[in-house]
Amino acid sequence: MKVTEHFNNANKTLFTFEILPPLKGENMRTLFDHIDPLMEFKPPFIDVTYHREEYVYKQRGNGLLEKITTRKRPGTVGICAAIQNHYKVDTVPHLICGGFSKEETENALIDLHFLGIDNVLVLRGDCVKSEARFVPEPGGHAYATDLLEQVVNMNNGCYLDDEQASNNSTDFCIGVAGYPEKHSEAPNLKADLRWLKKKIELGADYIVTQMFFDNQKYFDFVNLCRAEGINVPIIPGLKPITTKNQLTVLPSIFHIDIPADLADAVDACTDNKAAAQVGVEWAIKQSKELMEFGVPCLHYYSMGKSGSVRKVAEALF
Ligand code: FAD
Repeated sequence: MKVTEHFNNANKTLFTFEILPPLKGENMRTLFDHIDPLMEFKPPFIDVTYHREEYVYKQRGNGLLEKITTRKRPGTVGICAAIQNHYKVDTVPHLICGGFSKEETENALIDLHFLGIDNVLVLRGDCVKSEARFVPEPGGHAYATDLLEQVVNMNNGCYLDDEQASNNSTDFCIGVAGYPEKHSEAPNLKADLRWLKKKIELGADYIVTQMFFDNQKYFDFVNLCRAEGINVPIIPGLKPITTKNQLTVLPSIFHIDIPADLADAVDACTDNKAAAQVGVEWAIKQSKELMEFGVPCLHYYSMGKSGSVRKVAEALF
């Protein structure tokens, strides 16, 4: 079922979460052990992130370094199918431009369609870790808008090398990313919103936000979106802080602010157990206020650990 159908059918705020594929070499049990504790809260769908390739340098016997391309967390499509099969819940595979040609994207979309996966979250993806800026794959897409157009074309039966629309169209419900605190590369929020609006005009059905820790930033973002004529559901993305070092890691990776009250409280903790408790309490407070605001769904970034998300869900769902 489509994400938007879940929203339309719900009579209360839904609980959903995002998982990372396990590291290469680990098995599905690792992942199920992480998902199992969260299933009690009846997520209608689970997002599975996509991780592009990275470059690593291996020392060779002759003293030289060899550049190797590796994907540390492969398996997004297979994991989505395995979750749907095992838990009977819908999945939302993330689909990125980085590292994909248009043909590879088309093949991935055909696989998802045949597997009965009805949703995709369409993203550009970040640059390769060792590179300063995003470089599209030769024959691939430069922006989420371009990838979105390909998915919409397939929903209209148009495949890459067909002159005419086929009658075998896909029917993906399409989510896109939004940034209450602006995407790091956008010159300003207004410019960023222009591209977000373009994504909706091209056919995206809903928005999931980057994590934020100050609800006012989400409320302001929703108001700005509505003023721009963006009327699709805007799902807040939340993450309970779990360690003290996330005070610096999260802002540096995700380009978000951590409010002074929260940062001071985490900083004052003597260990990560206490910091995680502060993180849980903050996320509960944020979630309650967002529920009162009437969001259709609360979406939690679990980042491979379910403990804190479970504690938040226990208090709310
Ligand atoms: P875009 O919408 O393409 O925007 C990128 C930048 O270009 C922005 O500054 C925007 O203002 C501008 N822009 C947009 N369209 C155009 C255009 N047509 N022309 C010129 N400028 C334009 N990354 C992963 O690698 N894997 C994941 O699974 C993943 N999941 C995510 C889930 C969520 C909910 C979020 C919020 C992010 C996720 N990311 C993921 C990170 C995301 O890929 C990065 O933030 C990336 O840098 C931007 O992706 P985007 O889809 O927002 O890009």
